[in-house]
Amino acid sequence: MTQLNAEQRLTLQNQLLDLVTRLRAEIAVALHSAGPAETLGLANHLQDIDDDAIASLETSLDVAAIERDMSELRAAELALERLSKSEYGVCVKCGAEIPFKRLQASPTASHCVACQTRDERLHGKAGGRSL
Ligand SMILES: [Zn+2]
Repeated sequence: MTQLNAEQRLTLQNQLLDLVTRLRAEIAVALHSAGPAETLGLANHLQDIDDDAIASLETSLDVAAIERDMSELRAAELALERLSKSEYGVCVKCGAEIPFKRLQASPTASHCVACQTRDERLHGKAGGRSL
C-alpha cells in the first residue's frame, strides 16, 4: 500500500488518463499520415527518380518518435493498472515509496529515484541522444 490519499490518487489517475488519450491520438495521427508500408511503397516507386525525395520521406516518418510514444503509452497503461491494484506509487524494484511530487511530475514512474538512476546508468539511457 502507498501513502497516497484518495485525492492524490485521483489526480494521478486523471493525469495518466489524459496522457493515454494524448499518446493514442499522437500515435494514430503519426501512423495515419505516413504508415510504414505506404512509405516503403512510395520509396520504391521513387527509387530511380530522386534520392532526396526518399530521404525526406524517411525523415517525415519519425519512427523513433512513434516508438517513444508507444513505450510511454505502455508505461501509462501499466501505471493505471497498478493504480487500480494499489501497487502504484511504490518502487517495483526495492519497494520504497515514490513521493507524490515525483509521481505528479512523472506519473508513469515505477521506480524510486535511486533505482531509476542506477537503471539508467546500467542501460546507458541517462545521456539521452548520443549524436
Ligand atoms: Zn527503488
